[in-house]
Amino acid sequence: MGKVSIPSIFHIFGALIRQDNRKITRFLFLFCLKKTYGMKLIGACIILLVFAGTKQLFAQNTLTGTLTARQIISQMQAQLSCPWSQETVDTFKTGNPDDVVTGVAVCMFANMEALQNAVAKNCNLLIVHEPTFYNHLDKTDMLEDNPVYQAKMAYIQKHKLIIFRFHDHWHRTVPDGIYVGMIEKLGWKTNQVDNSMLFFKFGEQTVGGFAQKLQEKLGGSQLRVVGDPLMRFTNVALAVGAPGSKSHINLLTSEFTELLVAGEASEWETYEYVQDAAMLGMKKAAIFTGHIASEEAGMEYCATWLKTFIQDIPITYLENGSSFWTVQKPLNE
Ligand SMILES: [Zn+2]
Repeated sequence: MGKVSIPSIFHIFGALIRQDNRKITRFLFLFCLKKTYGMKLIGACIILLVFAGTKQLFAQNTLTGTLTARQIISQMQAQLSCPWSQETVDTFKTGNPDDVVTGVAVCMFANMEALQNAVAKNCNLLIVHEPTFYNHLDKTDMLEDNPVYQAKMAYIQKHKLIIFRFHDHWHRTVPDGIYVGMIEKLGWKTNQVDNSMLFFKFGEQTVGGFAQKLQEKLGGSQLRVVGDPLMRFTNVALAVGAPGSKSHINLLTSEFTELLVAGEASEWETYEYVQDAAMLGMKKAAIFTGHIASEEAGMEYCATWLKTFIQDIPITYLENGSSFWTVQKPLNE
């Protein structure tokens, strides 16, 4: 066996050590050195190998908690079934994406309450479904002199909070993450009539009775019902969030749909359409749950999903709950 130079032995075995074959590699390395340089070198090499191993372990430990926000988002992108679109609202809204993340908070809205909760839980990255600055594109030019915007931004900057919106792609991935979370929370999985996640069949019942049960499931009392509470039905269409009246009317036009369960709509659009349909003798009604109630469980599911591939950083789901309250008047008064 001819002599091999020490640097080339180190080069080959260094590469092998980086693969997870450390035990075999060390054995082969020592065997090879013994053949070429004899026992004198073995002691020195053991010290070198122990040092290399320790250094590698140390490197692995320091990897924990060194992911930047940008790295976390790209890990997230890699898990989606849809390609990442360049035209999207799913972008960083505040903060430095290259900052190291201490914790991730997932919620519907990065409102002041959520920001304070995130800070209390040592989370500097917020992954949110909806806008932070009160308009779909998070445009802030018209808010520059606004006192609410200024105070919110001051808080965000003070705590170096990074906000990333995750809306379009969470809906676009298959299956739609918001629908998965909502159907799970509502317990409607077995009521699905196909895999569209839009249409459901229930035992025959009244709209009023169904609304009561839905209110309990969503833990709120802000449901708005349009149509006859005594209307009997079996078929439901679900429209989470605020997809617009065109989408609502399309679902309501479907022969299948008797009751539409939707998040948010303009009162002068879908509400009036359902009123007219009912007055014209068609079997149509709608329940509006409010935007947050109709999607929030989808972001709770997002936090669960993130934990399946990001294990080294704490991930917390923050519940927003309803953004408004209502005056309740007993029915018998
Ligand atoms: Zn949505």
